[in-house]
Amino acid sequence: MTERLYYPDSYSTSFDAHVVECLTLNDNPAVVLDRTVFYPTGGGQPYDTGTLSGVPIVEVLEREEDQVIIHVLSSTESKTVLRPGDPVQGEIDWARRFDLMQQHTGQHLLSQAFVQAADADTVGFHLSDDYSTIDLNDEALNDDSVARAEALANQIIFEDRPVLARFLEPDEFATLPLRKAPPAKESIRIVQVEGFDWSACGGTHVARTGEIGLAKVVRVERRGAETRITFLCGHRALTHYQELNTLTRDLALRLSIGVEELPEALDRLQTEARIARKERDRLRELLLDHEAAALTASARLIGPVLLVCQLFKNREMEEARRLATRIANQPGHVVLLGVTGKKAQLIFARSSDLSYDMRPLLQEACSLVGGGGGGGPELAQGGGPHPDHIDQALQHATELLRQQISHGGGALGE
Ligand SMILES: [Zn+2]
Repeated sequence: MTERLYYPDSYSTSFDAHVVECLTLNDNPAVVLDRTVFYPTGGGQPYDTGTLSGVPIVEVLEREEDQVIIHVLSSTESKTVLRPGDPVQGEIDWARRFDLMQQHTGQHLLSQAFVQAADADTVGFHLSDDYSTIDLNDEALNDDSVARAEALANQIIFEDRPVLARFLEPDEFATLPLRKAPPAKESIRIVQVEGFDWSACGGTHVARTGEIGLAKVVRVERRGAETRITFLCGHRALTHYQELNTLTRDLALRLSIGVEELPEALDRLQTEARIARKERDRLRELLLDHEAAALTASARLIGPVLLVCQLFKNREMEEARRLATRIANQPGHVVLLGVTGKKAQLIFARSSDLSYDMRPLLQEACSLVGGGGGGGPELAQGGGPHPDHIDQALQHATELLRQQISHGGGALGE
């Protein structure tokens, strides 16, 4: 078993040790030492990074069968081959470790605070390099409960209570109000936040709650029968506050108002946008009415049919469709509209008092632009990938319509 120097002192950052075993893990050299300050992945806490005799550590893990700690070294920087018995000198990335200590002790405080303030037990937690989460066995934690738990955790932080981690025998911890009771068989490491929380835990912790600085819940998610909270402690909470502060100040500056006026300004902008959208839609309709009237006025008379044939550039199909419908709402009209852009699009419509079928016209026109389409006898729509052939397609559709008219038929009541 590797001697874990972080158990009695989570503040030691460097150490001397001897190699006990050498192995290879995923093509990387790895060593087991007689002692270490490196925390291995486990108990919801990530492993420590750092160096071993100058070589970066890429992973630290515990071997289950004999509980030794395996240090995986960077393969690209391991020039000297280590052998059992060799002395090594190790150093952890202290800034990262201290950050994880702040998050882990913060997690203990929040978990206990949720028990006391919201009657919610922790069923899982995870610490990562960016944020940490706690899963609580309550499907409907409201904002008030979260705020109460957060306030309680921070009160304990501000009271700067001592945090003590030590191994206790079953008869010693049996009387403690442990958050989650461990199997009472062997001695177990208990992390105690004075007068507040007692947890079985093998992780690294700060010595006093004040070192956590601040604990902030930044997200609450319902997950089936559980609620997951995401939280930040220490520097992470400060960084988050700085980012939000910069963001809100920037937003307020852009609107030339104070930060506290942002909600009111947003309400006003949303109202203005809604009114403007309504007015825009009204004007669009008006414009379409005028355009439809102008196109109707320029219709060509072919037999009994008034034909409107028009080509547009880069126009929304939905708008072209509404234009076609407006014209076809008047009796005796056939409308052949084309829109060119990256591709060719066609929309053909006719008045309900006529009976020409728009579908064969559209199919033939679409085949000239290399595509196809569909719809009903009164209105059909389609297109193809060749906009340069659209003039030809519209001419062809006009010719087909002319043939249908000259062969008779098409007008209702015949
Ligand atoms: Zn813990």
